[in-house]
Amino acid sequence: MAKRSAAPVAPRRRGANTVPPLHRSLHRFLRLLGASTRKSARRRRLTAEPTTREREVPRPQESKRSEPESEPQGNDAAAAAAVAGKYWAHRHSLFSLYDRGVRMDAEGWYSATPEAVAATQAARAAPGDLVVDAFAGCGGNSIQGCYVVAVEIDPCKVELAAHNARVYGVEDRIEFIVGDFFRLAPSLKADLVFFSPPWGGPSYIQAPVYTLDMLKPKDGYATFQAAQRIAPKIMMFLPRTVDVSQVEELSWLSCPPLDFESEENYVQHRLKGITAYFGRTKRSPSPLSVLG
Ligand code: ADP
Repeated sequence: MAKRSAAPVAPRRRGANTVPPLHRSLHRFLRLLGASTRKSARRRRLTAEPTTREREVPRPQESKRSEPESEPQGNDAAAAAAVAGKYWAHRHSLFSLYDRGVRMDAEGWYSATPEAVAATQAARAAPGDLVVDAFAGCGGNSIQGCYVVAVEIDPCKVELAAHNARVYGVEDRIEFIVGDFFRLAPSLKADLVFFSPPWGGPSYIQAPVYTLDMLKPKDGYATFQAAQRIAPKIMMFLPRTVDVSQVEELSWLSCPPLDFESEENYVQHRLKGITAYFGRTKRSPSPLSVLG
């Protein structure tokens, strides 16, 4: 096992014109899938009206930084506000352009990949790679990719992710599909699959060792095998307590075994998670691991 650390990649703010839009054949291909596809509306203003759901969620003030006693459950407005209150100080590490109107729901606050980590992961794709982001959530990873098919089962999250892509000016590079990754996987082909599936909410950290059977909605083996049918390169973003040797065993599901590398992802000296790279992903240019 090669253990490398992430390069300190500065959060990238992509201009909409630096890379051409997804080619037409991809759009045609996705339409053929019969899935519900949603291309971000290019002409909508970045300051589009918030959705009803977001209007209900009060935005916490800078002064409200105290940690809630316990983790709120559900997606109601009070829970969302409380979660946002807990994570508010981290908003710019999640999305450096937060102040330009980035939107998240309650889950997004604790599950979005920090931007510097997402940028580091995206940098491991080769130029021109088509990436499937399998559990796209509010779009933190998709935004950092070049050519991305973002799959997300929750249409409300797709709305948020599409909005956030517009904030970052990268909407032309992302094709959103509302659907179940496991149902769509047999119809997808790409160069690389990225996935950060549900870890089980913030309580995942209570288990001293995180094992692959704890991933949802299917365990890590089933998710990895679904990804394997799509692309020869796979990246997984996993809890910091994950059993890395168990993750490495996934590489043996291929013959010959896939190249494997794990990386600790730090933001401001805090370990945020572990990224596992399978297959011939591009190497990081620097061995440094501290991000953000
Ligand atoms: P956790 O906070 O437990 O890590 P996340 O909120 O990160 O969970 O989950 C990641 C995303 O995956 C969520 O936006 C969720 O809606 C989405 N998701 C869950 N199941 C599927 C699925 N079968 N296909 C596509 N997306 C899914």
